[in-house]
Amino acid sequence: MRKKGKAFVKEIALERIYRLFELADKAFGKENSERANRYIELALKISSRNKATVPAELKTSFCKKCHCFLKKGKNAKLKKTDRWVEVNCKQCGTNFKRQLLHKE
Ligand SMILES: [Zn+2]
Repeated sequence: MRKKGKAFVKEIALERIYRLFELADKAFGKENSERANRYIELALKISSRNKATVPAELKTSFCKKCHCFLKKGKNAKLKKTDRWVEVNCKQCGTNFKRQLLHKE
């Protein structure tokens, strides 16, 4: 099989998304939350341009509304149920739910 076309583009996009979330986490750890938020914006842009969905495990790492980087225990509250993770963004006060697509 040849690795070309849309699937390949998606794979690259996904790698970049993971990388950007990693960078966001590091920047946030250094208390540079503005930079962290920019990484998230970039990741979301890549995601929408390449039709690559942000992986489920990363979907609780940013706010659905204000798109800021969220860290459990820092600027976000996470509450897990069987099928959902309830996220509370302390930056803008939004509550949203994320479906758990994978088993833990
Ligand atoms: Zn928010």
